[in-house]
Amino acid sequence: MIGAGQAGLSAAHHLARLGFAPGSGFVVLDADARPGGAWQHRWPSLTLARTHHVHDLPGLPFPPAGDDVPVADAVPAYFAAYERRFALPVHRPVRVTAVRRAGDGGFFVEASAGDWTARAVVNATGTWTRPFVPRYPGQELFAGRQLHPVDYRGAAEFAGQSVVVVGGGASAVQLLGEIAEVATTTWVTRRPPVWREEPFDPEAGRAAVALVADAVREGRSPGSVVGVTGLVVTPWVRAARDRGVLDRLPMFDRLTRDGVAWDDGRFVRADAVLWATGFRAALGHLAPLQLRGPGGGIRMDGTAVVGEPRVHLVGYGPSASTVGASRAGRAAAVELRRLLHPDADLSR
Ligand code: FAD
Repeated sequence: MIGAGQAGLSAAHHLARLGFAPGSGFVVLDADARPGGAWQHRWPSLTLARTHHVHDLPGLPFPPAGDDVPVADAVPAYFAAYERRFALPVHRPVRVTAVRRAGDGGFFVEASAGDWTARAVVNATGTWTRPFVPRYPGQELFAGRQLHPVDYRGAAEFAGQSVVVVGGGASAVQLLGEIAEVATTTWVTRRPPVWREEPFDPEAGRAAVALVADAVREGRSPGSVVGVTGLVVTPWVRAARDRGVLDRLPMFDRLTRDGVAWDDGRFVRADAVLWATGFRAALGHLAPLQLRGPGGGIRMDGTAVVGEPRVHLVGYGPSASTVGASRAGRAAAVELRRLLHPDADLSR
């Protein structure tokens, strides 16, 4: 198992439940120094109230916590308790640098703390370590600061500045709302945002996930689940919209030394450009396996890679949400038990 976020911990829990011995039957290698997956790195103002919902891990509910508690505190505490409760064999900090095929149908796993051999690999490395920033003309000329949400620590550092926020997702909207309280902001997105006035219902959620699942079945890049759900209008978003903070401009054509410019002559001076433009799956260590097809993505059948049933990707594509990751962990464990122990009783 590679990665101890929501997806990795869920898979580890189910592997143990299905009879794989923690420590000898499976181990979890995690690059972070502490429990918490990507949540431990999220900006301090991202409180539980401002997330969509952090789904329970299997077998231990998320303990009640105040709405104002930062996720970067609450989720790592929960994951740490979870690892202890189920005695999960997490080794950290251990960064996997390459996974290669071994002659016997298994794998060599090269890591910062030595090498491992494995009969199967469950990859649960998320996206946080691969922030995505698109290329735009003039990026190298811009004299101000360019940053991604992974670098964001709070609005205070932008006080009195002019900040351009790029991106049509939930992070862009949230950070705009905060930064606009202390700075002048401009919001640019490639497409007009799709606002979802009603709370997100399960049926719409399933439809959104199905779109991403189709993409990975066909070997296309997955995109993000959140990207196809639209932007939920919470009371907080409505207030920002009423203040005019969420009036959006189309994407600029280039950056200049001191701002961003459109071909029609428009120009906005900027001290900082915040690229809230998403993430890609952190799969570089799997490159030696050459899993990517001509569509640029990895063809998947459930959580297994097509043609490589001993490699499972959890928290990837349609399972890139806390609920999806929890379910994918179970699916991968069940499949691996079937594959590696075909005579076992699967009623558990
Ligand atoms: P992660 O939590 O990223 O964990 C991956 C783990 O893998 C990390 O511990 C990392 O150290 C480890 N790792 C990475 N590379 C290596 C390597 N090479 N070797 C060893 N270990 C490695 N989802 C929701 O359901 N609700 C929300 O409200 C929500 N809010 C979000 C807000 C933001 C700002 C973002 C970015 C995402 C949000 N999501 C939300 C998505 C959700 O956080 C993830 O889909 C979910 O947590 C699944 O996590 P994961 O286990 O796949 O990955």
